[in-house]
Amino acid sequence: MRIAVIGTGYVGLVAGTCFSESGHDVTCVDVEKAKVAALNRGELPLYEPGLEELVRRNRDAGRLHFTTDLPEAVGGATVVFIAVGTPMGESGGADLRYVLAAAEAVGRALRHYTVVVDKSTVPVGTADRVREVIARNTGHDFDVVSNPEFLKEGAALEDFLKPDRVVIGADSEQARRIMGELYAPFVRTESPILFMDPRSAELTKYAANAMLATRISFMNDVAALCERVGADADQVRRGVGADKRIGYAFLHPGIGYGGSCFPKDVRALMATARDVGLELDLLRAVEATNARQKKSLLAKALRHYGDVSRHTFAVWGLAFKPRTDDMREAPSVDLIEGLLDAGARVQCHDPVAGEAARRCFADRVSYASTCYDAAEGADGLFLVTEWSEFRHPDLRRLKSLMRRPVIFDGRNVFDPEQARGEGFTYFGVGRG
Ligand code: NAD
Repeated sequence: MRIAVIGTGYVGLVAGTCFSESGHDVTCVDVEKAKVAALNRGELPLYEPGLEELVRRNRDAGRLHFTTDLPEAVGGATVVFIAVGTPMGESGGADLRYVLAAAEAVGRALRHYTVVVDKSTVPVGTADRVREVIARNTGHDFDVVSNPEFLKEGAALEDFLKPDRVVIGADSEQARRIMGELYAPFVRTESPILFMDPRSAELTKYAANAMLATRISFMNDVAALCERVGADADQVRRGVGADKRIGYAFLHPGIGYGGSCFPKDVRALMATARDVGLELDLLRAVEATNARQKKSLLAKALRHYGDVSRHTFAVWGLAFKPRTDDMREAPSVDLIEGLLDAGARVQCHDPVAGEAARRCFADRVSYASTCYDAAEGADGLFLVTEWSEFRHPDLRRLKSLMRRPVIFDGRNVFDPEQARGEGFTYFGVGRG
């Protein structure tokens, strides 16, 4: 099949590459010329483990192309994926301007029957709007399908190639058949394609992210309670997660969720509900807990030091989670801005997000090339992103580098006993 993918971000690039890996001829389109030029040189505009090699292999095999020429890519395709950004709009709802602009361009470029797929996360009813926009711009037959993406940055290839499920919202039999064929290599009996109507598919994506965000905020509330009553959130988590009805996933206490999806998707779902006269009170609480949690490490530090002006802090981890360079809505941003506002100096280190951090903080912080360099002369260390390489630091060396041995562990990765045994003052999340 010939496939066009509009948008070469985390989702578009992964989807396009994985479809080419299963033998299809894929052209990825982006409006950003520099991105396309880099991809054509074999350079990736983002960090995702394993992706560079897969892109290179499929480019070399002549199955994966990158262009800014949308009409050419769309005109020859049987299936067109719209995978552009849907950032948070002013009122909290999803900003659909990129999706609708792409739909208009797709409509103008159609040359024969085509399946147009909403891959972006879009509110209920968007498939109808995309259909209207395309219909205004073409006389050719087409179907619009909702196919939300559930991949996780940092494990995107694994998630795309072996998804838990593929959700396809389609009204037409022809579109269902084509989409089924496309995804057949990736699905198994226990990880099926779930065909449904487009509105249900659109809502499924938001409901899934809202559920995950809810679990995180719930556990963070439990952790806050643990701190006040002298219980240990990790032990509670183990006890709770052992129940098969509950499970362990997404129950880790921490410094709140971030990233390009949960914050905006929770907000967008609330906005969708509000548009039809429904207040989702649970999600409002989920958000409030998350906002409190993102400030919790800074609050602990301010309580501990009193005044942090003229203090220097090391921040380990900047990306919103390990194995990605994505800093959108990352808890590190709230923490660092809070420290800078309070007059502190910040020395940070992240294995891959240095460039994204420079775009965010410019020269307001210093960037260390190793985690130990970041700790040099620091009055405290904040662990924000649980990269594997931060899990077992040489605590003696760390202590000898720091001015004051204080650790604020935002992900509970260190053993408190061990850290205290080495002479550190240790603060975790929900640890008594
Ligand atoms: P992104 O911001 O990384 O990439 C979007 C890309 O689209 C950019 O490169 C941009 O230049 C390009 N673009 C915008 N308008 C265009 C147009 N008219 N023509 C061609 N290219 C255009 O976004 P992302 O993180 O890949 O997310 C895309 C969508 O997928 C969003 O709706 C998001 O919510 C959803 N999603 C993201 C993830 C994730 O982990 N990032 C997971 C699941 C779903």
